[in-house]
Amino acid sequence: MPWRGEKDPYRVWLSEVILQQTRVDQGWSYYLKFLKAYPDLSSLAQAREEEALLAWQGLGYYSRCRHLLEAARMIATRFGGKFPERHEDLLSLPGVGAYTAAAIASFAFGLPHAVVDGNVIRVLARFFGIGMAPGTAEGKAAFAGLADRLLDRKDPGMHNQALMDLGAQVCSPRSPSCPHCPLQGRCIAYRSGQIKLLPTRDPGPRVTDRYFHYLVIQAGDSVYIRKRTSNDIWKHLYEFPLIETKRPLGPEKLIRSRPFCDLLGNLDFRIWETRKAPLQKLTHRRIHGSFTRILVPESSARLEGFLRVPVTELSRYAFPRLIFSFLQGNPLTLLGLMTGL
Ligand code: SF4
Repeated sequence: MPWRGEKDPYRVWLSEVILQQTRVDQGWSYYLKFLKAYPDLSSLAQAREEEALLAWQGLGYYSRCRHLLEAARMIATRFGGKFPERHEDLLSLPGVGAYTAAAIASFAFGLPHAVVDGNVIRVLARFFGIGMAPGTAEGKAAFAGLADRLLDRKDPGMHNQALMDLGAQVCSPRSPSCPHCPLQGRCIAYRSGQIKLLPTRDPGPRVTDRYFHYLVIQAGDSVYIRKRTSNDIWKHLYEFPLIETKRPLGPEKLIRSRPFCDLLGNLDFRIWETRKAPLQKLTHRRIHGSFTRILVPESSARLEGFLRVPVTELSRYAFPRLIFSFLQGNPLTLLGLMTGL
């Protein structure tokens, strides 16, 4: 880990939050970018949410970013701007669960709290031959209790780091390096040939499919966007006018649908093209996206509830990765010039 040995609780917290759903190689540049923009707690507490979300754009799971801001503000007001040390205070911060609290407490403050992440669970399950599914209530309690009993209370930060590193670099999910593992002599999974069976898989989450049809409505060199405000994925990020359906819907049916007519019925418009977006997989959802580019005359009236933004200024707004990728692959600036609408 590039941030290994870090003792500053702010930096430990930031790195752990970034790593919650992100690989190290992907998260490192965001960590540096965030530290540059917000070098300490007080600068993050004063940050504007829109700017922070923009710095986070592309990393996904944006609730992490919103929670960082909320927690920084909470530390400023409730804890006098000083990072709390007590485990229960850490757990009271938005977005901080048992894993992150234990990581901050042990790495930054040397307190005896065992970190239990996927790497630690894998080592424990294999070494002790534990068949319980770690995501069940029973499994969670068993692995947390075992990790706590094993913890070296004299140097919990080093102990946690060592176990996590062993899981990440030696006892890897698919091809563990058992011949080089210091635990090999007493490892039950190795001796009984159960490495591929442990840890036991948790029952998968129920995944639902959602169909997002974005309307990229272009008037001259401007497009219409709005901020997502409901308690749903991508809250507070921006998006194009969206029609969501429960089932797939082709472009012909889309433009005859009620929401489409309600939005564009009174306007003179021309459909330019429809593009499918690559499937986006979230933890509990699969997002099937499409972008229909629609031209309306430059003199068109404003669309109620939407901002009309020059395409050259779209980079000032934070979008979900689905839209961000579309914009990267489909520059919109030329379209108005090409069509002369
Ligand atoms: S011996 Fe192999 S399976 Fe056992 S802990 Fe080491 S790397 Fe993991």
